[in-house]
Amino acid sequence: MATVPLISTSLKRLEGKVALITGGASGIGEATVRLFSKHGAQVVIADIQDEMGHSICKDLNNSSASFVHCDTTKETDVENAVNTTVSKYGKLDIMFNNAGISGVNKTNILENKLSEFEEVIKVNLIGVFLGTKHASRVMIPARRGSIINTASVGGSIGGAAPHAYTSSKHAVLGLMRNTAVELGPYGIRVNCVSPYLVATPLAKKFLKIDDEGILAVYSNLKGVNLVPEDVAEAALYLGSDESKYVSGHNLIVDGGFTAGNSGFC
Ligand code: NAD
Repeated sequence: MATVPLISTSLKRLEGKVALITGGASGIGEATVRLFSKHGAQVVIADIQDEMGHSICKDLNNSSASFVHCDTTKETDVENAVNTTVSKYGKLDIMFNNAGISGVNKTNILENKLSEFEEVIKVNLIGVFLGTKHASRVMIPARRGSIINTASVGGSIGGAAPHAYTSSKHAVLGLMRNTAVELGPYGIRVNCVSPYLVATPLAKKFLKIDDEGILAVYSNLKGVNLVPEDVAEAALYLGSDESKYVSGHNLIVDGGFTAGNSGFC
C-alpha cells in the first residue's frame, strides 16, 4: 500500500505566525519549537534552562527561534516573555503553555507532602493560568489567537499518575474549557493536547529509568511508543488555521489507551 505523506511534511502550515512555547528547551516543547520553526513560524522559547534554550536557537541558526528566560510560576516572567515576543515579532498568534513537572512519584495520599503538592500545582496549573492570562492580554485586542495547553491522559482519568499531577492536569482541562467559552467571541481558540507516556527527561526522571527502561515500559503498552514529535504534530494542528473552528477540545494522543474503562484491555 502506498504511504500517504503527512501534510506537515509538504506544506508550511504556520507561515507568518509567531509562537511562544513554554518549556521549549526540552522534550515535547523542544520538538514543537523545531516543528513550528520548520513550518515557517517565528518561535520564542520560554524556559528556565537557558543553556539548552540558547543551544536550540543556535541550532536553528537563530533565524526562526529566540530564547527568553521565564519561570512560568512568576507572573513578571510570563508577562515579560509575552511582551518580549510582541516587541520582537510584532504579535503573538500561538501560545503553547507546555512547561510542566512530574513531581515526586508517590501514590499514597498519606505520604504526599503539602510542599511537594503545591510545587506541582504551581508549575502545571498556575503556569498555564499565567500564560493564558498574558497571552489573552495581547490576543484580545488583536481578536485572534490559539492557546494550547499540555495536559495529560492523567487529566482525564484517575490512577494514571500521582495525586498532585493528576489534580493539576484535570484543572488545566477545566481552565481550558472556561477560557475557550470566554475567549471564543474574540476569535481566540483554547485547546489541550493530552499525551500518554512520552520518552522525555521528565518521564525518565519520574519513572527513574533510562532509555532502555522506557522501551521496557513501552513493550507493555501494546505498541504505543510515543515520541515528542507525535505530540508536536498535534500542537501543530491546533496552532494552524486548519483547526480554525476547533476550540474547547482535549486532543488525546495516546493510541487509544484512555478510550476504554481502564486503559488497554
Ligand atoms: P521535559 O522535562 O523534557 O520538558 C519540560 C520543560 O519544562 C523543561 O525544559 C523544563 O526546564 C521546563 N520547565 C519546568 N518548570 C518550568 C518553569 N517553572 N518555568 C519554565 N519552564 C519550566 O518534559 P516533557 O515530558 O516534554 O513535558 C512537557 C509537558 O508534557 C509537561 O506539561 C508534562 O506534564 C506533559 N506531559 C508529559 C508526558 C510524558 O510522558 N513525558 C505525558 C503527559 C504530559
